[in-house]
Amino acid sequence: MEFRDLKMQYQVLKTDIDAALLRVAASGQYIGGAELRALEEELAEYCGRRYCVSCANGTDALVLGLKALGIGEGDAVFVPDFTFFATAEAPCLCGAVPVFIDVEAESFNISAASLEREVRRVLREGKLRPACVIPVDLFGLPYDYEQIKAVAERYELKVIEDAAQGFGGRIGERRACSFGDLSTTSFFPAKPLGCYGDGGAVFTDDERVRDLLESLKVHGKGKEKYDNVRIGTNSRLDHIQAAVLRVKLRAFREYELAAVQDAAARYDRLLREAGLEKDLILPRVPEPFSSSYAQYTLRLRRSEVREALAEALKQRGIPTMVYYPKSMSRQTALLSYAGDSDCRTAQSLAEEVLSLPMHPYLKEEEQAQVVAALKDFFAD
Ligand SMILES: *Cc1c(COP(=O)(O)O)cnc(C)c1O
Repeated sequence: MEFRDLKMQYQVLKTDIDAALLRVAASGQYIGGAELRALEEELAEYCGRRYCVSCANGTDALVLGLKALGIGEGDAVFVPDFTFFATAEAPCLCGAVPVFIDVEAESFNISAASLEREVRRVLREGKLRPACVIPVDLFGLPYDYEQIKAVAERYELKVIEDAAQGFGGRIGERRACSFGDLSTTSFFPAKPLGCYGDGGAVFTDDERVRDLLESLKVHGKGKEKYDNVRIGTNSRLDHIQAAVLRVKLRAFREYELAAVQDAAARYDRLLREAGLEKDLILPRVPEPFSSSYAQYTLRLRRSEVREALAEALKQRGIPTMVYYPKSMSRQTALLSYAGDSDCRTAQSLAEEVLSLPMHPYLKEEEQAQVVAALKDFFAD
């Protein structure tokens, strides 16, 4: 059994992917190109944003987004303590300072109250300007952006949606990548929409921000290519990746997203029927939210059995992953930023979580096998 079966996906989409790859190879255009422009338009339309600017990966998307919003030295950027490293790394790369916010156990995410507490602490200390917050659409579930709106307005914080895992998720009719001042995503192969290498994108409704992003991602270019008006970087999405992504976006819209959501509903049902809620806390998706299930992540009621459980599943050919084993304030590289921050819930989540195999091509029998193995483990 595969944790995320990308080879199977290729087999299903092979005809179209092969044609797309060969089309780019024959076009002679490997940077920029027709597929890239078409992809950006399709992504903007799908997510409900005016502009999509593609770039080299999801980490660059965050860095470019922060820079385009003018965030840098002397600025505090608030990030959840429980996320992938890049969310906290990006502000550091801009010369800003990440401030870690503890998360709530149910949502794995920050609350308005915890954000406000940290903003007030930064203001009291008087060393940094509270500038930006980066909520994360963790495991495919969009963050509840409404709840921090008032706090963001009160303290004039920019809001960046880190939708690296959120692509395809919704709140009501609004899709991920449409929340906050700007949104970023990643096309790393294992993300909800992945390419065949690294890729990423920034979404915005602001034409001025779009222009800045276009400049920053190509060496701070001005009106012409060899007119450089600011320090930027080289962060382009390859033409060939854009061609792959267009094929995959079509499959994602037509059936992959629905298939993943069906698989999640099946896990929910099978786990409940097996009486496993006494041992495991299932992922919660409250109305009117909809998750794209980048991960199907359980919490163990007794975290001390996690290692043994993962091993027992592995023995039966079932791969699992721990996203994430270490919170940001505990990361060696970030210790100097962590100070005496006390993010207890993030730290316990890091000990409790376990993600099950999840992808659009997961079979019902495979899910039944996973649940049977869990049931046997907890019966012993
Ligand atoms: C994967 C990920 C990123 C970074 O994306 P890359 O394309 O790997 O650089 C950023 N934030 C979160 C939450 C992620 O999961």
